[in-house]
Amino acid sequence: MKLAVACGLVLSSLLAVSSTAEQFDFFYFVQQWPGSFCDTWRGCCFPDTGKPAADFGIHGLWPNYAQCHGGDDDASFFSIVGRRGKCWPEYCEREDGNALSPWEIRDLVASLGRNWPTLSCRSGDSFEFWSYEWKKHGTCSNLRPHDYFARALALKAAHNLTAILAAAGIVPSDTETYSLSSVSDAIAAATGATANLQCNRDKDGQTQLYQVFQCVDREAKKLIDCPLHMRSRCSGDRVKLPLF
Ligand code: AMP
Repeated sequence: MKLAVACGLVLSSLLAVSSTAEQFDFFYFVQQWPGSFCDTWRGCCFPDTGKPAADFGIHGLWPNYAQCHGGDDDASFFSIVGRRGKCWPEYCEREDGNALSPWEIRDLVASLGRNWPTLSCRSGDSFEFWSYEWKKHGTCSNLRPHDYFARALALKAAHNLTAILAAAGIVPSDTETYSLSSVSDAIAAATGATANLQCNRDKDGQTQLYQVFQCVDREAKKLIDCPLHMRSRCSGDRVKLPLF
């Protein structure tokens, strides 16, 4: 009898987990070069804690589908269900609530401040940036908040993009440019996995490396080759990595 009750409990808790688990395929782990965020026409502001290091900073860890679902040509411009369909889950409902608690990540705050700093002029409090990323993407990750942020920090520490690029001679400069293939080859050789690159433009319209999208398994632990190619917004073959 006891065994039957125990089996029932295990089964029902498994069902409860699986019925609420998000069925995404992989994570995009997105890091951003702060010099490229700051030197656009929009500009940036430093966090209350001071100017961040000249190092790639975390933008987010985003659950993503390998294939977009249910494309709809008539979808509203504002909907995430666009012509290609819904390509990632966002703002998921969680039984444990959607708000990020500072208490839950208190032991990570110092490291998050260094590695995931806000550059927004709306607020100098990086916690607001982490909360936004948690609500939009983290709630769909099937991870608890502490694991979500700890795994992002561990991924960044395991694959130091700034050092990987420097070892390949790709260092911040306002005059030098680098071929896109030298950037992607350096990342693939050092991490064992391909990544997607995204560019933006500085105030003079010059193309620069803005974000690196690495792809990660559903546990947010291991890099994988990116299953999708996204629009890079890099025009031409060369990019700069501006000083910060
Ligand atoms: P997401 O909605 O997760 O794709 O993130 C996009 C939003 O994050 C935009 O509103 C950006 O302006 C903002 N964002 C990007 N990088 C940063 C940063 N370093 N600090 C604060 N906000 C940022």
